[in-house]
Amino acid sequence: APGLYLIATPIGTARDITLRTLDILASADVIAAEDTRSLRKLLDIHGIALGERPLIAYHDHNGDRVRPRLIQALEAGKSVVYASEAGTPMVADPGYDLARAAVAEGHTLISAPGPSAAITALTLAGLPTDRFFFAGFLPNTAGRRKTALQELAEVPGTLIFYESPKRIAAMLRDAAQVLGGARRAAVCRELTKKFEEVLRGTLDELAATCAERTLKGEIVVLIDRGHLPNIREVDLDSALNEALQGLSVR
Ligand code: SAM
Repeated sequence: APGLYLIATPIGTARDITLRTLDILASADVIAAEDTRSLRKLLDIHGIALGERPLIAYHDHNGDRVRPRLIQALEAGKSVVYASEAGTPMVADPGYDLARAAVAEGHTLISAPGPSAAITALTLAGLPTDRFFFAGFLPNTAGRRKTALQELAEVPGTLIFYESPKRIAAMLRDAAQVLGGARRAAVCRELTKKFEEVLRGTLDELAATCAERTLKGEIVVLIDRGHLPNIREVDLDSALNEALQGLSVR
């Protein structure tokens, strides 16, 4: 059926792809991908022939130029599939402008859900999952990173960040300083891959670990919410004080 299909692709293990996504890849008229090489590889692994179908690169650097071509294909009644390099498109990845343009032109948007590093990490971190906030990549200069962390200090949910191995030590050090070293956190590395690893501890502990050990690969950092003072206890205290003062006057 015509429409723009946003498909999730594996974040490590090639078999983490849904049967429906394979069906869509096998039957779409036009395939667009952030990274055509990795998409070709994925098609190969799953035995899907591209045949005469176009495989178009669509990423942050050529989006404005390529988008009209994809929208034209939709206008011609074609089915267009879009995959980012890994995981779910539009989650710290391109696709938003394309999806928005398709909706604005009245085309059907179809999602074929699947892996995302953020949710995979959330299930492994051992931190509360009832509420969470995806904060993407932090700025890469110390000053702007600290400001961004400060803005997130009181979010009442687990914070989820993507981080590069180059900056993980500095990021944890800054987070410990801004949010307090006692906050619980987790560093999830190389998810679904051979060297998958989850480090759990306080921000101080994790910052110390990463200062002495170089972590490689792809990383998600999760940080527990801040524990605000228990407001009922504070209120009880002041109420009691007031009552005692009243007593001494009489
Ligand atoms: N769209 C992707 C998703 O849905 O997760 C994210 C793309 S973003 C450009 C890439 C970042 O995601 C990496 O730098 C890393 O922080 C995180 N990531 C992706 N795959 C990962 C994996 N297998 N293990 C840990 N983190 C991963």
